[in-house]
Amino acid sequence: MTAMTLDGRALINGQRVAAASGAVFDCISPIDGRTLAQAARCAAQDIDLAVTVASKAFEDCRWRGKSPAQRKRVLIKFADLMLDNIESLALTETLDMGKPIQYARSVDVKGAANCIRWYGEAIDKVYGEVASTPDNALALVTQEPVGVVGIIVPWNYPMLMASWKIAPALAAGNSVVLKPSEKSPLTALRMAELALQAGIPAGVFNVVPGMGSEAGAPLALHMDVDCIAFTGSTRVGKQIHVMAGQSNLKRAWTELGGKSPNIVFEDCPDLDRAVEAAITGIFFNQGQSCNAPSRLLLQASIHDVFLEKALALVPKFAPANPLLPDTIMGALVDDVQMKTVLRYIDSGKAEGAKLLTGGEQVLAETGGCYVQPTIFTAVQEEMTIAREEIFGPVLAVQTFSDAAQAVRMANNSIYGLHAGVWTRDINKAHAVARALRVGTVHINQYDEDDITVPFGGYKQSGVGRDKSLHALDKYTETKTTWLRIDSPL
Ligand code: NAD
Repeated sequence: MTAMTLDGRALINGQRVAAASGAVFDCISPIDGRTLAQAARCAAQDIDLAVTVASKAFEDCRWRGKSPAQRKRVLIKFADLMLDNIESLALTETLDMGKPIQYARSVDVKGAANCIRWYGEAIDKVYGEVASTPDNALALVTQEPVGVVGIIVPWNYPMLMASWKIAPALAAGNSVVLKPSEKSPLTALRMAELALQAGIPAGVFNVVPGMGSEAGAPLALHMDVDCIAFTGSTRVGKQIHVMAGQSNLKRAWTELGGKSPNIVFEDCPDLDRAVEAAITGIFFNQGQSCNAPSRLLLQASIHDVFLEKALALVPKFAPANPLLPDTIMGALVDDVQMKTVLRYIDSGKAEGAKLLTGGEQVLAETGGCYVQPTIFTAVQEEMTIAREEIFGPVLAVQTFSDAAQAVRMANNSIYGLHAGVWTRDINKAHAVARALRVGTVHINQYDEDDITVPFGGYKQSGVGRDKSLHALDKYTETKTTWLRIDSPL
């Protein structure tokens, strides 16, 4: 067995480099508190260098000048290399952010590779338009790459969130500067090495680890960045739009937080399936999913039976070492996040919600960050745990009496990312789905997902959509070209 080395240096212009200041930060594993590596603590000077090389790469056409079919081949090779390296990538992700290794493989590495392959395969099948103008003119409507795309991502699905942005941005011919989360920078750096190996020219895909205020803000403010694509909290997302406006009015796309309602009516066609989806949905990835169904809205008549079934499933999610092959609930990303989750649990108790199960930190002796799967009942709309995104394994259960009340409660949120509706009545399902102010509605399931569908939210869940062909619009400008036709006929 060969030892795996974790290299936290930045990747700029095809080279692994330290931050100009020489500063580093520790990458600490939430599994046991061990320091895994040191990453370059990039700041304004490093961002400027990365943007300069990315701009140069864009201007000299070393990537955008390749035909779509050539870019396709390189991206498909990149996806293949991700899969060739699935074990080391999954292991790095699990060590760095604590998710169960089985899901690091199946969801994160495979999902990211699939995304990169999909945009590679798509890009030579996208056509422009010929407008329906009078006969004496021709008007072409074409899409061109925006230029330098700055990308800032969170830590919950580090490779997957990066791939949702780098894949369409690179497929369209842009240059990219990616700032991964300071809590999970290692796999993004490895991805950029694999991209180089696949044939993406040096300077086209750069990765600059660092803190949000020190590396993220200079990227969002940079005058030579043409587009900033952000996934993260609503708080920082608002700052991103301000920074875009304060600088060069770069295009700003934000995929932000959620507090997704999951509405179960008494005529739910399969209660066991609904229970399984509700519980898996909130506890998957230790509750650190933007679209987790964190508000469970039960019709009062099924409240008790639903929760009895739910409680029976909870022991399956007992936290354990995420490196073990069968673990389904691992560690939260770090001590800060764990303390935030525990504070929310305290607020639930203090504001009068009923703690049905969980609520405690566990496995403290490991030095890791583990919290029990937690369910609160008797949650009222005004309570903090019903309104704020906790981003941890905490479910808030509320009750309703009819569809109108369910919709009103579901929409009573600053967020609008996902929602679930469980009913055997097709009319009710559609009427409720239409009334919900969210980007995605799940009817009688909560787990379908595919690269072919747009992902993003209404309201303060952000602006723009990742995934699907729609995402290409974020990384392209629309150009109209007029041509006069003087007919000799
Ligand atoms: P965060 O907003 O704290 O950080 C996200 C990224 O922004 C990190 O890379 C961070 O370093 C950077 N950042 C922080 N301050 C910055 C600043 N002032 N300027 C520029 N960049 C800055 O979010 P997080 O804790 O990493 O991630 C969790 C959040 O992400 C949750 O709210 C979750 O819902 C959201 N999320 C949304 C989606 C979606 O598609 N809608 C997907 C995944 C996660």
